Amino acid sequence: MHPYDNMYVAQVARNQYDLFIYIRDELPGVDEKWFIQAFMKSHVRAMIDEGNPKYLNMPAREQMLRFIEDEYGNEYQKGEEWGGFMPGWTGKIYSLYQWEYNISSKELIEVLTLDDIERIFPALHQMGWDAAIDKIHEVVLGNNRETYIFSGGIKHPFSNYHPSKCEYEGLQYENGEAAFQSAKTLNKEERRKFQTVNPSAAKRMGRQLELRPNWEEVKYNVMLDILLSKFQEPSLKQMLLDTGSKIIVEDTTGWHDNEWGDCSCEKCKSQQGKNLLGKALVEIRTKILRDTA
Ligand SMILES: [Zn+2]
Repeated sequence: MHPYDNMYVAQVARNQYDLFIYIRDELPGVDEKWFIQAFMKSHVRAMIDEGNPKYLNMPAREQMLRFIEDEYGNEYQKGEEWGGFMPGWTGKIYSLYQWEYNISSKELIEVLTLDDIERIFPALHQMGWDAAIDKIHEVVLGNNRETYIFSGGIKHPFSNYHPSKCEYEGLQYENGEAAFQSAKTLNKEERRKFQTVNPSAAKRMGRQLELRPNWEEVKYNVMLDILLSKFQEPSLKQMLLDTGSKIIVEDTTGWHDNEWGDCSCEKCKSQQGKNLLGKALVEIRTKILRDTA
């Protein structure tokens, strides 16, 4: 459920690189930091987030003119030049990070501020893009105020072990884990056996199933479907919205799950968990916000 197809990732990144370089040509004397913040929160940028084809295919200069015309007229804030190569680099980094971590542009500018960028740019700009994105994620996670970390398995509503009812492909389940484990098979009869079981039993039963083909490719989207159903419940929905624009991380220290969460035991602490559940929760939050806007 990335907003746009990955064939567009390079194009969006390139466009945003160019766009942030053009700022000074188009708007002499503009405060570049002001511009970047305004653009990241703009309608034009939101259309790109949503994968609107017209905007995905719009050249950088046109995106900029559209933004100026539609949203700012000629009332732009003047200020110092932010710095040579940095705006372009920032544009590309924001696009790539956004794709990797499924976060809206509006949220991203809050959790990874231009002050953060200024601070880390000297150390990162000569790295490859992937390595820079990894480092940046550490910065985002390091901004504790901006991260919502949860753990506690069955006791925490964001955990799949929590007893929160949900639906997946027409069947009701007592908890997210059972729904997720059942999805490992395409056999409806097998799936029904998961409908009333607790999460630990579901996990055990899931191991016995013969996996559907392509499970590895589809499992993240399965999780999204389940969470979308689970978070329709009003109090859960509110709790998720209350995390604001924070990155969400499941701390899995103790059971070493570095795929869906992030374990920081002695053995695992040198590796960064993929935190897929946290990413999925942020995606659901973004979707709920969009749908209620
Ligand atoms: Zn561990």
